[in-house]
Amino acid sequence: MWLLTTRSQFNSEQGHQSQIGQHGIEFFLGFDVTPTSLSFDKETNMQILQLDIQGYPQDWITPQQAASYYATDSVAWTVGEVCKTMRGGVNARSGLQSRLDIHPILAVNGASKTNLFDVVPSLSNAKLFKRDRYQCAYCGTDHGPTGSGLTREHIYPRARGGEDVWINVVSACRGCNARKACRSPEEARMPLLFAPYVPSVFEDFLLAGRNVRGDVHVWLANRVSRHSRWYAGY
Ligand SMILES: [Zn+2]
Repeated sequence: MWLLTTRSQFNSEQGHQSQIGQHGIEFFLGFDVTPTSLSFDKETNMQILQLDIQGYPQDWITPQQAASYYATDSVAWTVGEVCKTMRGGVNARSGLQSRLDIHPILAVNGASKTNLFDVVPSLSNAKLFKRDRYQCAYCGTDHGPTGSGLTREHIYPRARGGEDVWINVVSACRGCNARKACRSPEEARMPLLFAPYVPSVFEDFLLAGRNVRGDVHVWLANRVSRHSRWYAGY
């Protein structure tokens, strides 16, 4: 469900440095951040998912970065319940303290930074191991939850021209990697237990995210291909 955000008015009575949005909204830098529920106390590194106006993921941002989008009236729409409330100065006339409600997913006005569907997600061991559910692609050993002991294994060996790309790499334990050596799976008679693939943009954000909130996780996971290994056992 898409939820439209509401915004509060701010003033500059207390002389804070401020930015003024298109509709006279002022934003104080140096807000006190007030968790709206106890569960958020633990989320010291809460990430907010920034989308473009069409709903394509752009970046993981901090609540402070999100606040600057609200304050400059750049938020087009949001998803989910308020996850943080930031408080500013007190309005001299109304006596009310300014507040800014931050949502876990927000879409920002304006053109996308880039067409992410033309961009192949960057490859890293951390994301690769997560894509493969921390499992060795040859013997099936589980190396969760951190991937300790796993290596990036090139299905078609690099020494023979194999590329360092998503579609040519899998997670493998050191023993299997060494045993396979400079051979293809067929030559080594070590068939793959699962196929490599290039993660979609939505899956890439799940792979790269840290401490992803449950509702944001569900929103992204609902947009991940059913063919993904994301659905293999998790
Ligand atoms: Zn193995």
